[in-house]
Amino acid sequence: MRVIAIDGPAGSGKSTVAKAVAERLGLPYLDTGAMYRAVAFAVLRSGGDPADEELAANTARSMELEVGLDRVMVNGTDATVEIRGPEVTRSVSLVAANPAVRVELVSRQREWAERRGGGVLEGRDIGTVVFPDAELKVYLTADAAERARRRAQEVTDLDYETVAADLARRDTLDSTREIDPLAEAPDAVMVDTTGLGVDEVVTEIARLLEEKQPS
Ligand code: C5P
Repeated sequence: MRVIAIDGPAGSGKSTVAKAVAERLGLPYLDTGAMYRAVAFAVLRSGGDPADEELAANTARSMELEVGLDRVMVNGTDATVEIRGPEVTRSVSLVAANPAVRVELVSRQREWAERRGGGVLEGRDIGTVVFPDAELKVYLTADAAERARRRAQEVTDLDYETVAADLARRDTLDSTREIDPLAEAPDAVMVDTTGLGVDEVVTEIARLLEEKQPS
């Protein structure tokens, strides 16, 4: 099984880079952040409180979830746009700190890759928890101002200050939670994407892979 793990904080360029790497290698791609967002979405949609641990856990276990390249379906509803909205973004880190939610989603992520013979997975804990034996682990970073700038460009309805504050808050929650926090695996390669274009980062990752597999 060929697994490439791409982890890092919000706005580090993970999604764009991971998609491009998957395409270049002809491997399937999974955005695991979309799965945590989908749980938050389903809880909110049912009128529940994302802080209700039992409800969030049951929602994660029972939900029908399909995370495609450009579409996310949750219990038969197209949630592609809403999972990126401010309401879900506000509560996703809380849901992601719930141990039972993580157990369920990590198991779905492993199953996803096993069924496909591998893939490029992006998230926060892919190299540390989900696939500690991944062929290559990349930890993407970028300075905080650049990450906020990138995110602010994506979400046109929020100003820079709001986006920067949200990223800082999520970074703190994600890296200080007790279970599977955002962390660089000891054998991950750190790539600082500040000032780099997508192509440069993808080329660097392809080079790292070649280095691992001398032909
Ligand atoms: O990557 P994205 O910003 O969409 O992820 C949303 C949230 O999901 C993160 O802030 C984090 O709380 C959670 N997450 C996680 N583990 C992953 C992927 C995402 O805890 N593997």
